[in-house]
Amino acid sequence: MTMGKVIFIGAGPGAADLITVRGARRLAQADVVLFDALTDPALRAFAPRAKWVDVGKRGFCDSTGQATIDAMLVRYAREVAVVVRLKGGDPSVFGRLEEELEALAAAGIEAEVVPGVTAAIAAAADAQRPLTRRGSGRSVSLATAMTREGRMQAGRSADTEVFYMAGRQLGALSRRLLAAGWPADTPALAVSRAGWPDGLHSDHTVATLGQAAVLHAGRPTVVTVGAGALPLRKDGAAAQRKIAGSAPIPSELSS
Ligand code: SAH
Repeated sequence: MTMGKVIFIGAGPGAADLITVRGARRLAQADVVLFDALTDPALRAFAPRAKWVDVGKRGFCDSTGQATIDAMLVRYAREVAVVVRLKGGDPSVFGRLEEELEALAAAGIEAEVVPGVTAAIAAAADAQRPLTRRGSGRSVSLATAMTREGRMQAGRSADTEVFYMAGRQLGALSRRLLAAGWPADTPALAVSRAGWPDGLHSDHTVATLGQAAVLHAGRPTVVTVGAGALPLRKDGAAAQRKIAGSAPIPSELSS
């Protein structure tokens, strides 16, 4: 029996041109592409002759769904030469890569991982807020706001924390952040659909983060808290700036 290989490719956070050159080249070799809901349909142009299978729909998201995806990867790898598993952002960040790599290893199937631009990085680029800051922002954490059981959780383990999967419960995240010891006036930046032409970002504080809920409703959103959320000074001095607990200020990222 001939065995194909599975290539995990990070598609980046949005627009098709944020995939890496390597990712685009590997994608062009695909016979079958298993893709998630968040990836841009325009990516299909990179592999027009491949069979594209949507596994990002509802129903694939729970644990049985994950087992189905694992089984599909193994099955396709036994049928064709190149299976691409296309994931939003980077495959290693909240992408269930662990389960899928283990399933392939157990079946003796070769795998490769091509990195992608994760949402935290795309958000920093959109808002022009460097994730690390000299002096004040020496560590960054990528955290999910949701536990496996679907409960909200937030801590304080780095100078800058970027929370994924928090979009639906920004008010709850705000309360958890306060409880975890973040000062109420700590800057909190909400960015939705980072990397897309209609991306939005808004400035808040840990205490007023709940106000971001309406603006970013129904859109993939990351929340950056702490040093990396601090707006840059217009006068060029990279100094502290007090954020007033005011209403969110939406800003179109492109026109
Ligand atoms: N592997 C992906 C993350 C998958 S988890 C990555 O590396 O980016 C899905 C979560 O990612 C969403 O709930 C949201 O918090 C975040 N996300 C994905 N795309 C995003 C985007 N374009 N803008 C803002 N957040 C995004």
